[in-house]
Amino acid sequence: MKLDVLAFGAHPDDIELTCGGTIIKLGDMSYKTGVVALTRGELGTRGTAEIRRQEFEAAGQVLGLSVHKMLDIPDGQVAVTQQNKLKVIREIRAHQPKIVFAPYWKVRHPDHGHASDLVREAAFFSGLKNIDTGQPAFRPNKVIYYASRFEFKPSFIVDITACHDRKMTAVQSYGSQFYTPQAKKLGDEETNISRPEFLEAIITRAKQYGSYIGAGYGEPFLVREPMRLDDPVSFFGSEYLQGLL
Ligand SMILES: [Zn+2]
Repeated sequence: MKLDVLAFGAHPDDIELTCGGTIIKLGDMSYKTGVVALTRGELGTRGTAEIRRQEFEAAGQVLGLSVHKMLDIPDGQVAVTQQNKLKVIREIRAHQPKIVFAPYWKVRHPDHGHASDLVREAAFFSGLKNIDTGQPAFRPNKVIYYASRFEFKPSFIVDITACHDRKMTAVQSYGSQFYTPQAKKLGDEETNISRPEFLEAIITRAKQYGSYIGAGYGEPFLVREPMRLDDPVSFFGSEYLQGLL
């Protein structure tokens, strides 16, 4: 299945939290979208690998994906190795996405930082025909980075106002990880991300980024290289008068 957009996350819930609204929006625009989690999230303090798999599937329904899968890299061991690069290259070649989303490289969780490097390198090497996976060589047009805990000055912000409710529904599919009023399990150890404040912070941040572009909610993205723009006159329309950009 060929895709327009393929988003890689280190863990099953990473994409929903960081760029889930954008994935939903692109799906609404009839682009074919996919999400690949590099690990199954089995090191998580709460939930089991099986519960997380069910939650992953439920969240994927909300995101409206054409491709949704988990790879078998062990959680906590996302490293930039040749073996792992080949796993990512196989996904890129199988789906030939025009753009790839990857985590920003400066992060708190080591898996996210390694995932950033792993996906960027795999996207490059995927274009070399002498790296043999039994598939044609293919390089995506661009790797674009999404933010998790550490922020960056965004290259652009996507207005996700129309998809924000669905994004939060997808996030709350992960009842073992995040706070949901109906899924308070006695005995589950509280974690950094299971408190209601964590989800409030996700929502507040989306509102903050939305405010920069005159929208209700937004998600920030970073492009490492300079961006080419052929027609600044038409690109910078009157919508730029509405926000703080
Ligand atoms: Zn993660």
